[in-house]
This record gives sequence, C-alpha cells and structure tokens, in this order.
Amino acid sequence: MQRWRRVRHWCGARRRGQFALTFAMVTVLTGACGALLVAPNWVLPKVSPDRLGAARAVAADDPRLAAVRATMAPFGELTAVRVATGSGQESLVVGHAGQRAEMDVLAAELAPATDSITELWGAGWARSALVVVASNPSEFAALVRSGNLLASEVAAAAVADPYLPGTRPTGQRVVFSPDAGRRLTPAGLRTVLRHELTHLAARADTVDGAPQWLLEGFAEYAAHRGGTERFAEIAPTLNTRLRTGATPVDLPADSSFTGPDAAAAYEQAWSVCAFVAATYGEPRLVQLYRGLAAGKQTPESEDRILREVLGADRASVTAAWRSWLGAESA
Ligand SMILES: [Zn+2]
Repeated sequence: MQRWRRVRHWCGARRRGQFALTFAMVTVLTGACGALLVAPNWVLPKVSPDRLGAARAVAADDPRLAAVRATMAPFGELTAVRVATGSGQESLVVGHAGQRAEMDVLAAELAPATDSITELWGAGWARSALVVVASNPSEFAALVRSGNLLASEVAAAAVADPYLPGTRPTGQRVVFSPDAGRRLTPAGLRTVLRHELTHLAARADTVDGAPQWLLEGFAEYAAHRGGTERFAEIAPTLNTRLRTGATPVDLPADSSFTGPDAAAAYEQAWSVCAFVAATYGEPRLVQLYRGLAAGKQTPESEDRILREVLGADRASVTAAWRSWLGAESA
C-alpha cells in the first residue's frame, strides 16, 4: 500500500495529452457487449515500439478484464490499454475516460518497472499485471474490497484473492485511487506503481503479519531503485529529523505505518533496505525479505534470521543502519 506522503509531488492540474503511447492499442469496452472502439495511436518518445509490440486490441473476453468489469461497469464504460511487459507477457491498465491521463503514464511505466523489479527479485513472478484506476471513492472501495481503505488516504493498493501460502496468488491487481492523477505528478505515479508492483511480485513469498519495516521498506527500495533522487528527496521527513539530531533509535514498529507518523515510518523503512542493499548487496536484501516475510516474526526469530542472512544480530544491524543514516543524510 502507498499512503499519500509526497506532498512535493502533488500538483493541482492534470496535464492531459502530455502522455501517450506508441503502438499501444486503446480499446473502449462497453458494458457486457464488449464492442470495440479503437482510438488513434499516440506518441511517447521514451517508450520504444518494440517494447510495446504490435498494436492489438484488448480482447473483450480477456479474463483479467472480466475480473473487474462487473465491479467497474456501473461507474461508466471501460477503457483498457494493453502493454507488453517482457518474455511474452502482457499487462493491462483499465479505467474510465476521465482517468485517461494517469492511465497513459502508468501504461508507459509498466515495462521498465517490470524489468527493474525482475532484475531485483528474479523472474519467479507473473510479470503480467492488472492495473486499475478508480474513478471515485465507491469504485475504489469495491476494487480493493475494503470500505476501510479510504481513497482520500491511500494513493494505491495491491490486492489479491485470499490464498494459501505457497500457492500462486490469483486475482492480483494494483488499484489506484481516483485522486492519484490529481495529487501526484507523473513521477509520483511511476514511483507508486513500482511500489505496488513489488508487492505483487513478492506476494507469493509474503505472509500477512511479517514485519512492516521490511515489506514496505522493500517496496519503497524497489520503487526508487536505479533512480536519480537523493536521500533528502526520497526521505525528506527523515532527513529533516536527522539534521536536528533526532536519529531513529530502532527499526520502525508496525504500528507506526498508520497514523500521523506514517510518512516517517515509510521513509525509515526505505532507508533500512537501502542500507542493507548498499552494505551487503541486493541479493542479500532479497534473501532477507524471503526469510523475514515468510512468517510473523518474534524478536528472537527476527534476530536469528538477520544473523543468518547478514551475519549480524538485530542490535548490530540497527547500530550500523543508524551510522549509515548519519553519513548518507545531507
Ligand atoms: Zn506498500
């Protein structure tokens, strides 16, 4: 999940028409009949045609589309964009005409985001995502199957059908809030997409109740991986605190990821994973994720897994992270 936290990314006006796709087919599907209406191809220089493949319509009976059509149809006709995301896989972005600008940003980002996450996590995930943009709070609540997750508080969420650990998750999708396009810049949308896709990629290896500092920190690390943002841009709240001498004393607790201090918790979680990747390498960070995310941890089990993967106990890792924070912050 990604809560609103990048105030600097918020923007008041949509920039419609600025983002588009080369060779991506735009299909408008009307309710149950599935009639196709093809829009012109648009141009986005950053997306090479061969990554998106030949223009083809989204089939009205695409099972991924069928999974959300019944939920979304009452809110207006659907628009779907199909994107090639490597190794013969295809991802789908679905929404309504009013969300077209953010849908195009997300569609253009899907292939590079999928490549980056695969490079980090490995190829053992679907690499084929369903990304949905809700048009209003009611539709968002229906798509995330929760009335508790408010569109006004959450930028996007990754959801899946209930499943048994060890089995392949089904019904996975990333759902964007109706406010996402208004409150986030395109760069912010791209970051949130990578964050949520990471949750999707790691879902089969993630047990509910695993430490939030790892689950959210890993998604944030993957979201910013390879980017040009500096520490103070990725973690402005944490950076400000560090400059006043308020270094976190411990890894962020699960309870801190909701409520007024959530922004700081997400930033701290990111910094822990960035520290692990910088100090021990990305493969060790992934190994740590697979170990810690496999179950609900006790202080003892967390300590044991940290020692197994990083060769240092929790107290030592925390101390090294705090030193790293002092050196990295501006
Ligand atoms: Zn998240």
